[in-house]
Parts: sequence; structure tokens; C-alpha cells
Amino acid sequence: MKIVLQCPDCHRGWFVGKEKAGRTTKCPYCDELVYVWPSVPRRSGWSVLLFAIGIFSLIVGLLVCLFDPVVGFLGLVVGFQSLVGSFLIDVFTDIRWFLKQLVDQNTKPKEESKDE
Ligand SMILES: [Zn+2]
Repeated sequence: MKIVLQCPDCHRGWFVGKEKAGRTTKCPYCDELVYVWPSVPRRSGWSVLLFAIGIFSLIVGLLVCLFDPVVGFLGLVVGFQSLVGSFLIDVFTDIRWFLKQLVDQNTKPKEESKDE
């Protein structure tokens, strides 16, 4: 898999290997140094973890409610907050992913590598 780059100086595009992510590379046209952004994941691991904690807390909270409404209510609050947190992380991850897609679409590479 290749990463598409666009030079901020001469605005020409080219491909680099994935191993260059997180480092700087030189523009092949004008020798400008360009930072290679690591590819953005579609879903964050933190969001999945928080979602699992949220569901778990909601179920446990509901069960505890049968015996102790106060403690059970706290469990429900924790579960609800975790779900909201998970949702927010998802939204921000989506925004980052969407912006990355926009950047990729607006970058028109002049040269394509043969080995894709
Ligand atoms: Zn350049």
C-alpha cells in the first residue's frame, strides 16, 4: 500500500511507501522536505474499548438496580458516559478520516510507481 503525498511548495504529487509514515521525505521535483502523515485508522481502539465498558456497565447497572437502586444508578451513569465518550471518539475519528480522504482526492499524482 502506498501513501499519496503532495508537495506544499510546488503542489505536485507522488507516492511513497508506507514505511515512510511519520518521517520526512524529499519532494522529487523541487527537493522540498515533506512530512509523511501516518494513515488514519477508520475506528479508534479507544472507542471500541469505551463502547464495551459502556455496554458492560449498563447491563451490570441494570442488574444491580434490582438489589441496590443507588449503586445500580451509578453503574448506569458510568455506562452512559462511556457510550457518549465512545461516540465522541468515533465522531472525531470520522472527521480525521474524512479530511484525509479529501486531501487524497485533491492530490493528483503526476507519477505512479509500478509496484502497487
Ligand atoms: Zn515540490
